[in-house]
Amino acid sequence: MSSAEVNRQTFDEVMVPNYSPAAFIPVSGEGSRLVDQDGKEYIDFAAGIAVTSLGHRHPEVTRALHEQVDRLWHLSNTFTNEPALRLARRLTETTFAERVFFANSGAEANEAALKLARRWAHDHYGETKRKIVSCKQSFHGRTLFTVSVGGQPKYTEGFAPLPGDLEHIAFNDPAAAEAAIDDSTCAVIVEPVQGEGGVLPASPEYLKKLRELCSRHNALLIFDEVQIGVGRAGTLFAYMDYGVTPDILTSAKALGNGFPVGAMLTTKDIAASFVVGTHGSTYGGNPLACTVADKVIEIVNTPEVLGGVQQRHERIVEALARINETHRAFRDVRGKGLLIGAELAADLAGKAKDFVNVAAKHGLVILVAGPNVVRFAPSLIISEEDLAEGLKRFEATVAEVVAAARG
Ligand SMILES: *Cc1c(COP(=O)(O)O)cnc(C)c1O
Repeated sequence: MSSAEVNRQTFDEVMVPNYSPAAFIPVSGEGSRLVDQDGKEYIDFAAGIAVTSLGHRHPEVTRALHEQVDRLWHLSNTFTNEPALRLARRLTETTFAERVFFANSGAEANEAALKLARRWAHDHYGETKRKIVSCKQSFHGRTLFTVSVGGQPKYTEGFAPLPGDLEHIAFNDPAAAEAAIDDSTCAVIVEPVQGEGGVLPASPEYLKKLRELCSRHNALLIFDEVQIGVGRAGTLFAYMDYGVTPDILTSAKALGNGFPVGAMLTTKDIAASFVVGTHGSTYGGNPLACTVADKVIEIVNTPEVLGGVQQRHERIVEALARINETHRAFRDVRGKGLLIGAELAADLAGKAKDFVNVAAKHGLVILVAGPNVVRFAPSLIISEEDLAEGLKRFEATVAEVVAAARG
């Protein structure tokens, strides 16, 4: 095969085998539709993994990027640049935050947040305040620090020695939080809606309890909004809907609508612990990434986009309930805004991946969140037509998987 011709088999020949990609390769996309190498069309209910929230190739985002491509690509952090400053100003004007650090991914934004928390506690309280509390089943990224803080042991297996002074507690359990968070705690990190862990929203009482415990013990509350942030909850960030304000918030995924970018947001006082030389990133704050993110936030943070999220949520949840009346495939449908999980009925346990594979056959892209949960994370502006067509294809998928499983 010439180097110009590539297909799914090429993956097995040249790539590190840490992924198991679909049998088809999408080659172009527009809005909530994808087209693969064979010209087959798919409805996209995944948006990457909650990344392309404005759909593929949103015209305004594309135009902004083109303009910046023709102006300036990169400077390094020995300079600042206009797109980074504009984006930081927009983020500080629209959130609790007063200071912003840019990275290239969710893991890097969380790595910065965790390092800042340790450094802040060290500066203000000394050596002993360094415990980080996080939740079981949580996901915070794949660097050694973030994967260790994350609550899924399978992701740290074989990577010891791991960073220390980490404690994992049951999610949504105020008593467990009360028992774990003490004066030696420098930070508590939580996803307001656990994404990878199975699409599990925190209860408002739980987040309020974490806020109260962190304030009482002088620990920083970090919200990992890498997956739920940037409009997916129906507010610009989920903390706004919960009415609980963190000390540090991390964002990535939808922030760049497909262009790699991450951000850590915090207050002026906490940010002060990252003095010159304490942390950095070659690409963090890159003009291309920041131009895209600035346009994304501008578009998402409007009543038209945010106001459509809950309406689409209800549309999907109603359709799933109707499908379930016929097929009894789900024991629970839950989530927030346009991050929705359908947990499989007992006799379909472990088959979430089957739904993804069969959906592809029917021209639909969906996700799993663990072995038992089918996850939906469509574009926030998916059209009614694409939504209806995708739900139709999903019903056909459910019928086929259920028929195969139950005979
Ligand atoms: C995806 C995700 C991350 C990691 O983001 P990367 O860009 O893959 O590093 C971290 N936290 C949450 C909640 C995520 O969903």
